[in-house]
Parts: sequence; C-alpha cells; structure tokens
Amino acid sequence: MRLAGTSTAIVVGVEAHVVEVEAHLADGLVGMAITGLADTAVQEARDRVRSAIVCTGFPWPQRRITVGLSPAWLPKFGSGLDLAIALAVLAADGRIDPALLARTVVIGELRLDGRVGPVRGVLPIARAAGRWGYRRIIVPRANAAQAALVDDLDVIAVGSLGHALRCIGVDCEVGDEGGMPCAPTDSLAPVPDLAEVRGQASAKFALEVAAAGGHHLALLGPPGVGKTLLAERLPSILPPLDRETALEVSAIRSVIDDRPVGLITEPPFAAPHHGASATAVIGGGRARPRVGLITAAHRGVLFLDEAPEFAANVLDALRQPLESGTVAIARADFTVLLPARFQLVLAANPCPCGQAFDRHGRCTCTPTQRRRYLGRLSGPLMDRIDVRVVVETPAPHEMALAANASAEPSAAVAARVATARARQARRYAGTPWRLNAEVPGPVLRRDWPLPSDVSRRFDAMLDRPERPSARGVDRMLRLAWTCADLAGRDAPDAQDIALAMRLRDAGGRWAA
Ligand SMILES: [Zn+2]
Repeated sequence: MRLAGTSTAIVVGVEAHVVEVEAHLADGLVGMAITGLADTAVQEARDRVRSAIVCTGFPWPQRRITVGLSPAWLPKFGSGLDLAIALAVLAADGRIDPALLARTVVIGELRLDGRVGPVRGVLPIARAAGRWGYRRIIVPRANAAQAALVDDLDVIAVGSLGHALRCIGVDCEVGDEGGMPCAPTDSLAPVPDLAEVRGQASAKFALEVAAAGGHHLALLGPPGVGKTLLAERLPSILPPLDRETALEVSAIRSVIDDRPVGLITEPPFAAPHHGASATAVIGGGRARPRVGLITAAHRGVLFLDEAPEFAANVLDALRQPLESGTVAIARADFTVLLPARFQLVLAANPCPCGQAFDRHGRCTCTPTQRRRYLGRLSGPLMDRIDVRVVVETPAPHEMALAANASAEPSAAVAARVATARARQARRYAGTPWRLNAEVPGPVLRRDWPLPSDVSRRFDAMLDRPERPSARGVDRMLRLAWTCADLAGRDAPDAQDIALAMRLRDAGGRWAA
C-alpha cells in the first residue's frame, strides 16, 4: 500500500471540522512533508509521529512521505492531528489494514515515546462525528468521558499509539504500558447559594424577577454592599440546562478548558475583569480565533463588575451578541460565528469614589464626574437592560434584623422562577419566544393587552415630565408581566405595574 488515510478533526471557534489525512509513500529522498495549510504545531507532528512510531516497535519507512490534509482551505492547527497522521503513515506503509480505520475519527496528541495526551475540543468533535455518520472515535484516555456523552458513537479511549493499534485489531507488542493516566473528571465548583446573603430583600427580588423573565440586570450601589454576591448567585435560581443545552455548554467548556469536565447541567457564570482585553472578553485574536468569555457565558450569566471601568470598545462589542446571541469573528479568509446568548448582569458604583448615595455626604466627586462615570455605559447598551436597581447599604437596625433572620435558600426561589417560566411558556406557546424579555414590545401590546383599567392607570403613571422613551415603556411592560407571572396572576394588575416602574428606573438614580 502506498496511499492510505483516515479522518480526524479540528475545532475552529467552537465548531468541529472534519479533516481527511492521507499519507503517500514514494521513492525518493527520505523525509516527510505535511501539506494543507498546516501551522507550526502540525508541522512539528513530523518529529512526534516518527519518534512515536519507532518507540512503538515499527521501522520508520525509508521513503519520501507526503501527508496531505484536506480540505486545503481550512487552516489546521494544534497537535490533536498527531495520532491520525501516525495511523495514516502506518497504513500507507502496509502495517495496518486501511479497512480497520474506516468510519473512524482519530484524535490525540503524541508524545515522543508513543503515549497519547489529551486535547481540547473532544466533545464538539465527537458530537460532529456522530452527525457526519462516523461510527467510532478514537480519543485520548483523559478525554474519554467527554466523548462518551455523545449517543450512538463507539468511543475507544487510548493511552498510547500501541494501545490504539491493539484496540483496532493490529498485532502490536507495545500495549498500554506506560500510557497516559486517565485524569479524574473534574466537577465544577458548586454554585453559591442565596441563603448566604443576609438582608437585601429588594435586590434579591430584582434578581428573582431577572431570572424569571430572562431580563438583563444592572445593580447600582456603593462598593462592598454585596452586588457581586448577588450576581454570582443568579445561576443558582435559574433552571438547570436541558440535555441539548447541557451538551452545547459542555462542548464550549471542552474547547476552553484543558481539564476534562463531564456534562455541565448548571448555567455557566463568567465574570471578566474590567481590565480584560476585547479579545479575552469578546473573542478573536491573531492566529487561531480564540473563544471569549461571552461565549464561556453562553446559556448562562455574564457579570461585568465595575462596568463603567471596562474599555469602551469592549462595552460596544457586547451589542451584537445581546441582539443576536452570537458573535462574529472576522478572519482574513473566513468568519467564525461563536455562540454568545447570555444573561447580562452589570454592577456599577454610583460615582468614581463610590459614595454618591452616602447618607453622610462623603462623596468627593463633582456632579460632572458623576454624570460622566455612569455615562460611560452607553445608551444603546443600557437600553437593553430591563431591570435597574439600587443596592443600598442596610441601615444598622436592618443589619441586626437580617443577622437573626434565616435567609431563603436558592432552591425556594428557583421553584418560583420555574413556575413563572412555565406560565410564560404556556402563554407564548406557538411563538418564537419563551420568556417575557424576548417578546418585542409592539407584539406584547397587541397580542397581550393589559386589562383596560390597568392600562389607564399605567398611562396615568407615565404622564409625567420625565416620561420614559417608548422602549423604556415596553421594558416596563415586560417587567410587569414577569411580576404577574411570579405572583401567579393571568395579567398584570396595578401593583405589578408599580413594581415594574420601581425595577426599571431605580428612582431615577441611574441618571444621577
Ligand atoms: Zn463620589
């Protein structure tokens, strides 16, 4: 056999692409060339593959070896193609019956001694392999649990090249001895519970409303008041991910993280630092497109603490994903579309010194400084945030009260959120929407009008000098529906409208 091949895959963004590997042996100068837009790491496969094959007990073919990777337009990067290249070379050299590699995707990085090391992105590759009609996937042992999450796919977990050969039925003296150990599947840190946050009843209610209706949330308040504690606990009151979403989230995790994790069923939480670059937050980068934290937050919560301190280009770049649930990373020759459908939580101090709401007037900022500070959060961004509340420093008597009272655990709040979401799912059955936050204002007003007496009172409440914009009114309306859903009412009443107005404009202090 002079020409043989197998299939492998690479991940671009979070999407797997199949790569066909063909090895051709010809007379001529002894050596090996890899063609097909291969980066440095792939080029270096030559040394790893050669050393691994020799260490496994096979002679290195004394021929001119050409390895072709196709499709040619797709840039190939990383070391996950090593094992497939080694098997293709051995098949071309007549050491393996090529039929043994049929309908199999091969993933794994080779060490010089023939051991197979873990690679990133095994879950998206395994999911795609199933869709492409492959029956079997050979993966590094450390990644086996990830690949096994995919139904109807035989997973062969291997510790070394020799082990891989034996698994597919090749007689090989070197077996699994000294193979890479199977790392235990890491579990993620437990999600913190709302019971740990004392007091802050109104801020907790805002969090519950945000969770129930899928609304983006902004928390304004002095440093140390508990904005971060609250934001971190939003995932604990959101519904767990369904199986398909859990696979989607776990696949993203498997691209980002070196540590192999199992199925992630809780909504993820990502909190970039305000000094983080646009590449780290949004994604991108020069060589291979990097996945940003907004994609890590996909189907979960993105928390921006000290939001006005983020670079303007980072805040601006959030607008596209907030609109479409995706972020497009443009390359010279192609565009990578990354998923980024997250619930946004912003936290901000009321002014640069943080004391603007201080009862004792300790703020040292000028009115211009205060205005400029919150003004960094642009109108188009703030416009997408339905819930805007002020988190107050509790008065001493409130603190004493909260210290003695036991706070409600997340599970109790999550149950109310789930019931409210079920009401929305029933109401919006047959529409593209599931949550109040998703329904366009005009549609909400047309198809689910308020009872006439409530509508009249709503109009009366809006009739004031600082009347909110039409969009602001729509957001208030959506919040009123969420309040009604939480209260178990079929439509908002005057109380829900009043609550919605409070949740919407934080007593006008966002404009302070
Ligand atoms: Zn200040």
